[in-house]
Formats: sequence, C-alpha cells, structure tokens
Amino acid sequence: MRRETAADVKPPLPRKPDWLKVRISQTKTFHNVRDLVKGLHLHTVCEEAACPNRGECWNRGTATILIMGDICTRSCGFCNVKTGKPLPLDLGEPRRVAEAVQTLHLHYAVITSVDRDELSDGGAGHFAATIRSIHELNPQCKVEALIPDFKGMEVSLTVVCDARPEVLAHNLETVARLHSTVRPQAKYWRSLQLLGRAKKQGMVVKSGIMVGLGETKDEVIEVMRDLVDVGCDLLTIGQYMQPTPKHLPVVEYIHPDVFKEYEEIGRNLGLAHVQSGALVRSSYLADLQEAIIRSEER
Ligand code: SF4
Repeated sequence: MRRETAADVKPPLPRKPDWLKVRISQTKTFHNVRDLVKGLHLHTVCEEAACPNRGECWNRGTATILIMGDICTRSCGFCNVKTGKPLPLDLGEPRRVAEAVQTLHLHYAVITSVDRDELSDGGAGHFAATIRSIHELNPQCKVEALIPDFKGMEVSLTVVCDARPEVLAHNLETVARLHSTVRPQAKYWRSLQLLGRAKKQGMVVKSGIMVGLGETKDEVIEVMRDLVDVGCDLLTIGQYMQPTPKHLPVVEYIHPDVFKEYEEIGRNLGLAHVQSGALVRSSYLADLQEAIIRSEER
C-alpha cells in the first residue's frame, strides 16, 4: 500500500461562516418562476449555478435566463455548468425568452449564455436576436446582456451592442494572477479589452469578480483600477462558493467588513456603483444597480 505523503494532505477547508448560511424560501412565486422556465424549455443561471439567492430573486419575480443551452464549450474551475459539445442553436428560443419575460412581468431581464466557442460568431447573433425579441414584446423591459468574451472578436461584440441592451456586462471573475487556474480558456487582458470596447460603443458597462479564491486585497484593488481605466461603470464582488468537491476549493471566507471596504474603495477609485457582499452575484439586484447609474446620469 502506498504511504501518504505531504503532497497528499490537503489543507482543511475553512468552515462556512454564519453569514453565508441562507434558507431558500419556496413561496408560490418561487414555484411559478421555476415552472414557467421549465415549461418554456429554458434554463436559468440561478439553477445551473445553484445560486444562494434563488429564494430572494425568484420571490421578487426575477431570474437570470441562460440562453444557447446548458452545455458550455469551456471548463472554468469555479463553474457548475456542464462542459461538452453543445446542441445546435434553438432558433425559437429568443421568442420564448421574450414570452417568459412578458409572463413574469419583468421590468429588467438579465440574459446570459454558456460559451459557444464552436460557433463562428460565438453566439453573438443569437444574443442580439434575444435582446431585440425581448424589447419588441416588452417595450418597458430593460435588458442586461451578460456576455462571454467571444474570443476577443470585436465584430461579435458590435453585433450585441447594436441590439442596444441597457447594460453590457462581462465578468472578469477573478484577479489577473489567478486567471490561468480559474478561467484557463480566458484572458484577463482580453476581457478588459472587451469592456473598454463596449464603453466606446456607448454602453453602460458592468463587470463582476468573486473573492475567496486566494487573491490579495491589493490584487482586488488592482482589478478595480483596471476597470476604471477602461471606463467600467458597475462592479459586483461576491464570495466564491465551491459548487461541488470537484471544483476549486474556497481558500478564504471574506468577512463582510472587507466587502464593505471594497465597496468604498471602488467608489473612491471612480466606479459609479459597487455591489459588494458575500452573497452578491453579478445579477443580484441588477435592476437596482442599473437604476442607480441612470439616476446619477441625470
Ligand atoms: S443572483 Fe442572479 S443567478 Fe442568483 S438567483 Fe438572483 S438572478 Fe438568479
């Protein structure tokens, strides 16, 4: 029998603190959202990512809809979405998403997708069709498009921007140093470049990162500086939570005081709004974040 070596002994995971323990309350609205999404053969990030805010968001009647299937061509170390060969695009999906938005009476819809690197445009055309379809059927509804990096193809970004989502979001997810482990198929600079280009195309621009993956405070501040430099308006910062034992471990549970501190630092550096807290996810209270920036523009 092989002897256990020092390399085999993994450091113990930190104990989950009380501020991360949430009970998902399943009210009637919660069930309505779940049934509607299922009935229309749609997917939500809320479920795919086992988001801890499902109780709160679904009970408010909001959800983040995942388009272009539930199989991703990439395999990020933090993400619970399946990796594999995706199915062909469902051309009826943009209309069904718009119908879901209508049935749920959403005034703000967050649309995101898996990565579809096998498609020549990365799925930008499908994204744009979905945004247009929502706006057509729901003229009052604002749309936040949380997009992949399209492997840096500017033409794909332009296709999405031309559909005029009210917010263009793309998450950096982590600090520059940790990209090779957290998002091995992505590049920090490429994501920053995308955000900068979106700003130049007149978009309200948003990004998000997770903390607790082993980054330092200075590195988080560096991310905020980089985002300000490219013109990013909104930032979300939340605690990374390991979805299954196969995913990257949590290195540290960040204290709520530190999240508060990040919020202040970000604001002082020049970001219009920073939503920072242990349970914050990029689409958490997205409608309120957008409202803050619009009120500041006035
Ligand atoms: S924070 Fe976003 S992903 Fe999580 S439940 Fe709310 S809308 Fe869904």
